[in-house]
Amino acid sequence: MSERVDVLVIGGGAAGLSGALALARARRSVLVVDGGTPRNAPAAGVHNFLTRDGTPPGELMALARAEVRGYGAEVRDGWVTGARREDGGFALSLADGTTVSARRLLVATGARDELPDVPGLAQLWGTDVLHCPYCHGWEVQDQPVGILSTNPMGTHAALLWRQWTADVTLFVHTGPEPTAEQEEQLAARGIEVVRGEVVGLETADGRLTGVRLAGGAVVPRRALVAGSQVRAPGELLADLGLEPVEFAMNGTVFGSVLPASADGATSVPGVWVAGNAGDVRAQVVVAAAQGLAAAGQINMDLVLEETRAAVAARTAVGAA
Ligand SMILES: Cc1cc2nc3c(=O)[nH]c(=O)nc-3n(C[C@H](O)[C@H](O)[C@H](O)COP(=O)(O)OP(=O)(O)OC[C@H]3O[C@@H](n4cnc5c(N)ncnc54)[C@H](O)[C@@H]3O)c2cc1C
Repeated sequence: MSERVDVLVIGGGAAGLSGALALARARRSVLVVDGGTPRNAPAAGVHNFLTRDGTPPGELMALARAEVRGYGAEVRDGWVTGARREDGGFALSLADGTTVSARRLLVATGARDELPDVPGLAQLWGTDVLHCPYCHGWEVQDQPVGILSTNPMGTHAALLWRQWTADVTLFVHTGPEPTAEQEEQLAARGIEVVRGEVVGLETADGRLTGVRLAGGAVVPRRALVAGSQVRAPGELLADLGLEPVEFAMNGTVFGSVLPASADGATSVPGVWVAGNAGDVRAQVVVAAAQGLAAAGQINMDLVLEETRAAVAARTAVGAA
C-alpha cells in the first residue's frame, strides 16, 4: 500500500515550503519531497526578503522547514521521478523506489540555470558571476563590473547595473553590436564597450580579478554579470500532459516555464505550479507568495470536492 496525502509538494524551496505551510495550517495532510538544490544555493545571502535580508539560503530553508513541520506536514529529502494519474488523484514515484498517492499536486521544483559557455564562469556563479542587480548589486556597489552580452539585452543590463557602480564595461562577446542609439546611451553613462570574444576569467584566491579576451588582453573586473537560460523541468510531468514552454521578453528567450495562471493553476486539473518553475523572474519572496496563492486555490478545490461528495451522500440517504 502506498501512502496517501491530500497534497504532495514537489520541491521544498521558498515556493514549495510556503505552499506547504498554508496547506498544513489549513489542516491538510502534506508531504514535501525536496532534492535540496535551491537555485540560489551558491549565494552567500538572500537579499530583498523583508525581515530576513542577507540570511544564508540554507539557513532560511532550515527555518522554513521547521515552521512547516511545526504544523504537522512532512518534509522529506528525496526526488520525485515521475507522476501519473490515478483514480481521482496522482501517483508519484520517488527516487528511493517508493510511491505516494496524492489528491492534488503543487509543482515547486524551481528551475535550472544554463550558464554561458565561458571557461571558469560556472565556478564563480552566485559569488562573483552575477545575474540580478537586486540580489547582488548592493554588494558590488562602486566596484569594477563587467556585463557579458549574449543577447540583445546586453545594453539594457549595462544601463541597469550603472545604477550601482560608475565603473561598468560592456563585453559585446556573442551579443549583437550596440545600435547607434545604444552607443550614445552607453557613452552618455560612461560605460565602456569592449568588442571580441571573452575566452576566460582571471582569479586570485578564488575571486574574480579580470576578464580575458580572445586576443589575450585582460580587463580587470571584480564582478561579471551573465544571464542564464532558466529552464523549468522538462520530463517530470510529461505523462500528465504538462510540458514547459519558452519564456521570452522583447523577443529574447530567457528560458522555459510550466504554463500556469496567475494563481498557479495549470491546464491539468489538480496540478498547480509556484515559484521559478512557472515564473523565471520570481525572487524568493515572490516565489513564497506564489506558493501561498496556489495553496489557497488547492485547499478550495479540495473543499469543493468534499462538499460535492457530502451532498451526494446526503442525497443518497434521503433517497433510501
Ligand atoms: C545565484 C543566485 C542568487 C540569487 N539570489 C537571490 C536573492 O538574493 N534574493 C532573491 O529574492 N532571490 C535570489 N535568487 C532567486 C532565487 O533563487 C529564486 O527566487 C528562488 O530559488 C525560487 O524559489 P523556488 O522555490 O521556486 O525554487 P528553488 O529555491 O530552486 O527550490 C526548488 C527545490 O525543488 C527541488 N526539486 C527540483 N526538482 C525536484 C524533484 N523532481 N523532486 C524533488 N525535489 C525537486 C530542488 O532540489 C530545490 O530544492 C537568486 C538566484 C540565483 C541563481
